[in-house]
Amino acid sequence: MVPGLHCQFLAADGPGRFRCTVYADRFARAPWCHAARDVVSQGFLADDCPYGTPAGMGKVRLTDAEFDAVWPAVLRKLRSWGVPTYIGRAALLAEVARRQGEPWALEAFPGFSDRLRLVRVHLTPEAPR
Ligand code: SF4
Repeated sequence: MVPGLHCQFLAADGPGRFRCTVYADRFARAPWCHAARDVVSQGFLADDCPYGTPAGMGKVRLTDAEFDAVWPAVLRKLRSWGVPTYIGRAALLAEVARRQGEPWALEAFPGFSDRLRLVRVHLTPEAPR
């Protein structure tokens, strides 16, 4: 799991808790959403999810130290693959900016209408006064 990379309809609901803001009509509002029964075999759930996941196929939450170690590789993949257009964009950009110490942006991904490209924001130096 990549902190900050999630559906645009996911909202924080207290420390470590999240909720869907469109649950009642999620399949109409979010065509990318899946019913739990359909995602078990695809490995979209956590390894320890009670719905069940094939061994070793599910998502895992790394410790902060473990995630710090893999973050450079994760960022490279996010940049090369792009991210889905339906994510919560502000959440991802905030997480990337926090980790990288500089602002980033999402822009159209050439050739893919369903992806966004993650790019560094090049700040222009202030003109001398
Ligand atoms: S993926 Fe589905 S259940 Fe999850 S936040 Fe988005 S709409 Fe809601």
